[in-house]
Amino acid sequence: MPGLSKHVFLKTIFCPTLGWWLHNGKIRENLTPDVLFRMEQGKKIGALARQLYPGGVFVYASGSKTAASLTRELMEDPRINVIFEGTFITGNYVAKADILIRNGDSWDLVEVKSGVQQKQDYLEDMAYTTVIARNSGFTPAHICLQLLNKEYRLGMPPEQLFTTVDCTEEVRKFREQFESQLDSVDTTLHSPEEPCPMLTMNCKKCEYFDTCMGSEVDEHIFNIPRLSEKTFQALVSSGYISIHDIPEGFRLTPGQANAVRCVQCGEISIDPVLAEQLDYVVWPAFYLDFETTQLAIPCYPDLAPYDSFPTQYSIHLCDSCGNIIEHRDYLADPQRDCRRELAVQLISDLAGDGSIITYSNYEKTMITILSRLFPDLEGPLNSLLGRIVDLEHGIKCIQHPQFRGRTSIKVVLPALIPDLSYDGLAINNGSNAMITFASMIMGLYSAEEMLQKRTELREYCKLDTLAMVRLHEKLHEMLGK
Ligand code: SF4
Repeated sequence: MPGLSKHVFLKTIFCPTLGWWLHNGKIRENLTPDVLFRMEQGKKIGALARQLYPGGVFVYASGSKTAASLTRELMEDPRINVIFEGTFITGNYVAKADILIRNGDSWDLVEVKSGVQQKQDYLEDMAYTTVIARNSGFTPAHICLQLLNKEYRLGMPPEQLFTTVDCTEEVRKFREQFESQLDSVDTTLHSPEEPCPMLTMNCKKCEYFDTCMGSEVDEHIFNIPRLSEKTFQALVSSGYISIHDIPEGFRLTPGQANAVRCVQCGEISIDPVLAEQLDYVVWPAFYLDFETTQLAIPCYPDLAPYDSFPTQYSIHLCDSCGNIIEHRDYLADPQRDCRRELAVQLISDLAGDGSIITYSNYEKTMITILSRLFPDLEGPLNSLLGRIVDLEHGIKCIQHPQFRGRTSIKVVLPALIPDLSYDGLAINNGSNAMITFASMIMGLYSAEEMLQKRTELREYCKLDTLAMVRLHEKLHEMLGK
């Protein structure tokens, strides 16, 4: 029975050890909420894509061999012009084509993706399917990607949701590479011996890094900010795996050299310009954080696929540094378009002359989007922009061994305020918050779950602004104020 799928093949190309673990049941895929949500959206988009081909025949069969012979029969039947999930087998490998479309004497192979632009992962997916199809005796005339159309807006005809790109040429390079690797991957996966893990740049994005190549290495070189492949190779070939090993004078960018020096000496340094940054604040100050969401298939008429829109905010109001006098928040109803309601409430909640303290430029961007959407609110919304003070600019004045050249709140908080953590929260990062709200819009929760999720979203956003209050207080303390 053929058992090697595209997923296992591509994982083995990424890392032979990882592919072997997967194929031999040593690890299970970690189906995080992000992954599950993307799968759900992908299924929906696949079903919509199939609706564009009303005469298409779906290959329903139990077992890959039966599916492959059914696919062959359908391709030989002149009455059939479109096949969904056509199956191909060669050796131990099996592949499924999302859509096969008759093109004269041949067929075009179409891969449906929920993204809006071509990327390497998509080309690799198509290359794998093409290799297996060709080795089983079928060569597609064209290899195409069916992507979401960035110009689509809610209410347009369904065929305008997609755009098709011919990728036959772009796929060729990966196809040739994979053809030459089919046998070696098969041999690796069926070997009784696990391949020895090797440190490559891929390890940096591997979810098993901490228990594999990252275990027992204090301050791995992956902690160097913006590490390029070239610098990584130079470090590894010199035998430097830990930041502590890197000698002075090793070729790094000034930012990287600073981060490395900071880790090696374990000292915190503060740029005196921080004092000036903090002096900009006018009290009482409003600490503001937005959460936003985005959907592949837009839910409101003015949105393109994957356009972000605000769904929630939290505000901590302080009359002096660290002294909270009030908390305000807003969370939209996922069943209706609440953007105007959110904008009106925001203007009211931020009324006054005090500074609006944010962390990054994102809040400015979202307020600007709202002001373009509601011209009658443009004046009051734009007047908020001039009051914004970005706390991250202050954090950028600090070199801290635990920052490793980064300034995101999730990196900075444990270093400066270790007693305040997102760990105990059901929703503990922005991506989680985003997909939770998107899942609410898509009706994926029961009424009871909805109530629970609303509480979790509010707790998460509230902690974001509380973290900003505490960080601001810490900066004052560090300056001896
Ligand atoms: S950490 Fe590296 S070697 Fe280990 S499984 Fe991941 S990619 Fe493979």
